[in-house]
Amino acid sequence: MIEPVSRLWTVFLGVPGCGKGTQAGFLVQNYGFSVVAVGDILRKNRDKVIASDGGTIGALMEGGNLLPDDIVVGCVRDELNGAHSGEYTRSIIFDGFPRTLGQAKALAGLLAELGLKDGYVLNFVVDDEVITKRILGRYSCGKCGRIYNDFFLRPRVEGVCDVCGHGEFDRRCDDNDVSLKKRLAEYREKTEVLVGYYQDLGILSNIDAAASFDNVSAEVMNVLGLSKKER
Ligand SMILES: [Zn+2]
Repeated sequence: MIEPVSRLWTVFLGVPGCGKGTQAGFLVQNYGFSVVAVGDILRKNRDKVIASDGGTIGALMEGGNLLPDDIVVGCVRDELNGAHSGEYTRSIIFDGFPRTLGQAKALAGLLAELGLKDGYVLNFVVDDEVITKRILGRYSCGKCGRIYNDFFLRPRVEGVCDVCGHGEFDRRCDDNDVSLKKRLAEYREKTEVLVGYYQDLGILSNIDAAASFDNVSAEVMNVLGLSKKER
């Protein structure tokens, strides 16, 4: 495994479904990055968060809404400093965080605490129509988890998983049209200011996320100064 020369941090910006999670997985597997997947962290902390609040937060989560900054920042801080801190001793990718200007400013503080200096913000740009198809069309094998898509990637035999032959598939319950439109609108409203914020700091790079996986990852590696691995 090739690791980056120095420990760095990177923020992946982009609407859900832009492919940043897949790119993060690639960097984890091939370059030893740790990923802070804030959506997963929030889901993991779901019961605790709901208990602390008496129901409002649960309703927000169900509706695909953004959670209040202090809740999100608290969960990320606990993850990085708590029982799981050992998982984050290498270069870090923040996926799904920050989502607001308030979170971005809190992140700057967290990075200072972690002693992480060199950072890059990657903005995965892709238009809403492509995103809508990617998200609403997405489903996965109920057994092995292989991801499929109604528009882009159907199993070779309809209704049968290519990998394991299983015939039942899962769709995420928040992948419906109303929830998606809301998420996209919320993203435009709150998260796009981050593009300007990081641009002003001089650390933002736009990535054409509508391109193929290989082209996107080549662009990502280029920005992060990672050399291409021999395959
Ligand atoms: Zn399968």
